[in-house]
Amino acid sequence: MEWLLSMPKVELHAHLNGSIRDSTLLELARLLGEKGVIVFSDVEHVIMKNDRSLHEVFKLFDLIHILTTDHKTVTRITKEVVEDFASENVVYLELRTTPKRNDSIGMSKRSYMEAVVEGLRAVSAVDIDFAPHNMDGNPVNDMITDDICNGTTRKKIYVRLLLSIDRRETTEAAMETVKLALEMREFGVLGIDLSGNPIVGEWSTFLPALEFAREQGLQITLHCGEVPNKKEINSMLDFLPQRVGHACFFQEEEWKKLKSSKIPVEICLTSNIRTDTISSIDIHHFANLYAAKHPLVLCTDDSGVFSTTLSKEYHLAASTFGLGKWEMFQLAKTAVGFIFADDGVKQDLEGIFNLAAKKLD
Ligand code: 5GP
Repeated sequence: MEWLLSMPKVELHAHLNGSIRDSTLLELARLLGEKGVIVFSDVEHVIMKNDRSLHEVFKLFDLIHILTTDHKTVTRITKEVVEDFASENVVYLELRTTPKRNDSIGMSKRSYMEAVVEGLRAVSAVDIDFAPHNMDGNPVNDMITDDICNGTTRKKIYVRLLLSIDRRETTEAAMETVKLALEMREFGVLGIDLSGNPIVGEWSTFLPALEFAREQGLQITLHCGEVPNKKEINSMLDFLPQRVGHACFFQEEEWKKLKSSKIPVEICLTSNIRTDTISSIDIHHFANLYAAKHPLVLCTDDSGVFSTTLSKEYHLAASTFGLGKWEMFQLAKTAVGFIFADDGVKQDLEGIFNLAAKKLD
């Protein structure tokens, strides 16, 4: 496990509000309990519960959003989540979040995202490269103080953002998120994710916004096949997104389509097992896709909600599927090819992996 922890890793499927430390959630719940907004004892066991169905997970997110959706807290959780990923040697993080509007506290989707960017700026435990430009419009290069390759002990993490469209949203709301993503490109927003409860909403509702996003040069990843919905899975694959997440309820025809399209899959082992979308780890489609050399990336999904880390996900894959150090390293390194950031970042990351390869015994 130690070598998996120290190995550089790339995280491409992490939801901000799913990646919060339990201790932070409990602290926030206690505060709201004291204010009489919630009953702490009712909420405590919901936060600490380990096994939840997919349906219960979405109920938990509604609770988490009550605890976190104010500007100060959004800034705090962003900072903590980034520092937590960096602490286990995640060198590149694509963090996704659903911009939220809450008129009662003067929060717009834009001000929510500004609070996220503030959180990136507040990161202090590690060095961070999060955007091609600073808030004042100047290039961000002067922010990068240390480099993981030059022998300094401070860790460095590249962070880029994806804005999520929640499946509860209307076409107009989805379009608003895409427009916001375009406005915020200079702060490291690279693309759009479609997520939220998979039994809610229709593909046709989101398609216009996703098509517009693509036309405008944003990259797209879709939660795909979390429930058996053959028609939607096929529509999503025909759309040819840059990546898909999960890919659990695929049948023969969809596997064929996925493999011939070579769309990289974000694999979230613990999440799939905990939510019972895959009944047992040894029959997880990771094995088949890995054997077929299909592009794959191991991810956490919601490290807080599922009590996992990216190192634990690598450990789970290594121990379940009998993969050794070199194979796991290669798996981590190939993920660089599927990131949404530009070639300059890819080259930097390749440099980091090449250096780490020399230390691999
Ligand atoms: P947020 O976007 O609020 O930062 O992160 C939490 C949100 O991400 C949830 O409300 C949900 O919309 C989405 N999400 C997190 N985990 C999953 C998952 O496993 N499947 C799907 N479809 N959506 C998820």
